[in-house]
Amino acid sequence: MPLLPRRYERLKAVLDRRMGDLTVLLEHVDKPHNLSAILRSCDAVGVLEAHAVCLQGRLPTFNSTALGSQKWVPLKRHDRADEAIAALKAGGFRIYGTHLGARAIDYRRCDFTGPTAFVLGAEKWGLSEAAAAQIDQAIVIPMQGMVQSLNVSVAAATLLFEALRQREARGCAPTRGEGVAPERYGRQLFEWAYPEVADWCRREGRAYPQLSPEGAILEDLPRGVRMRH
Ligand code: SAM
Repeated sequence: MPLLPRRYERLKAVLDRRMGDLTVLLEHVDKPHNLSAILRSCDAVGVLEAHAVCLQGRLPTFNSTALGSQKWVPLKRHDRADEAIAALKAGGFRIYGTHLGARAIDYRRCDFTGPTAFVLGAEKWGLSEAAAAQIDQAIVIPMQGMVQSLNVSVAAATLLFEALRQREARGCAPTRGEGVAPERYGRQLFEWAYPEVADWCRREGRAYPQLSPEGAILEDLPRGVRMRH
């Protein structure tokens, strides 16, 4: 089925608001409903890509809570938290760790308008000591009740929407694709529009085909591949 121009316009409108400089790093968050809810919030806020450190050999799994968000927010897997944090720092991100200890400051005192990565910890144990040692700033969402912590997906949503609120208030939330590097914009748009063709290109080691302004593929593809999109 060819992509409908209206669908293509919708994909572009969503990508135009994506932010490559806002992300989450999930350390051993492995309950499918939590992962799903977090990716759904990432999609809603406009996170381009999320990160996860998975327990060895475990693939992230999602459930119906995601409503398909995992298709719209790629989740990059890492083997170790320290390596993931080092890579994010090398990419210019400031690392905010949700570490509920005494050093943590109220998240509302922070400026999340620059490149921001929120590190969220496992449902049971929170952040590992190794990850906590590497963060730039420990933050906490103050709690008034009897229970000491929020569900991790609720914490993620609270922080992400605060980052979006600050960016909108400062007029720096992207609206025309400026939050995504041009090469990544084209690649992401193709993967959203034609996921199966994109898979095939990757397997074949080929560049993605060019698209027309209406989103049609401007290349003759093998019949078997054409039938799948
Ligand atoms: N006993 C764990 C601890 O002390 O960190 C509780 C883990 S909590 C259920 C799971 C994750 O949710 C935390 O690692 C953190 O990322 C996030 N979280 C929960 N409550 C939070 C709060 N009040 N402020 C910031 N993050 C919070």
